[in-house]
Amino acid sequence: MVKLHNKYFKPFITANQIDTAIDKLVEEIANDLGDEIPVFIGILNGSFMFTSDFVKKYPKPCEVTFIKLASYEGVKSTEDIQRLIGLTQDLTGRTVVILEDIIDTGNTLAEVHRIFQNENVKALKIATLFYKPEAYKKDFKLHYVGIEIPNKFIVGYGLDYDNLGRDLPEIYQIKETQHMTNLVLFGPPGAGKGTQA
Ligand code: 5GP
Ligand code: MG
Ligand code: MG
Repeated sequence: MVKLHNKYFKPFITANQIDTAIDKLVEEIANDLGDEIPVFIGILNGSFMFTSDFVKKYPKPCEVTFIKLASYEGVKSTEDIQRLIGLTQDLTGRTVVILEDIIDTGNTLAEVHRIFQNENVKALKIATLFYKPEAYKKDFKLHYVGIEIPNKFIVGYGLDYDNLGRDLPEIYQIKETQHMTNLVLFGPPGAGKGTQA
């Protein structure tokens, strides 16, 4: 278990499971795109680790760049998406594959579509490592999905809770407060903070 700021998180998805999910995404995307040279665009900050591991595995020539958007405050998604770093190259006629860490409400994805509206790309494909189907409110097609997860806040592998946790190589899921209270009150000696797996 890890503590970030005032919240506890329990192990949820191992580094191995993440690796397998990325292998699957790489295979699907490489098969679909053939010999075309795609532009992979990671959405910072959350997808820096995913983008890095993904392009290292990608078996053919590709370009990689980033845009930086922000929507989250603490553990809650907001509709107000900020563009912090935009596109810096001409993508006319190119096949673009967005690499997202996670798709939750879809608000960030809506902003991505707005950004690409007038870019005259040949194709815009969406790939996401994690996806919360219960939280998704939009109709945009998700072309490639790594792992579907329940509608609970996660950290690790690029994903943060108020800037902490991005460096963790695996994924942790938030522990509900009540659960923690039970654990502390009724757990065996030594079962309190920091001693659980
Ligand atoms: P959306 O705009 O789809 O609601 O959320 C997209 C962005 O919010 C993601 O790219 C990610 O940065 C952040 N986000 C969504 N769900 C989670 C989560 O469970 N944990 C963390 N740390 N960030 C999340
Ligand atoms: Mg993201
Ligand atoms: Mg965040």
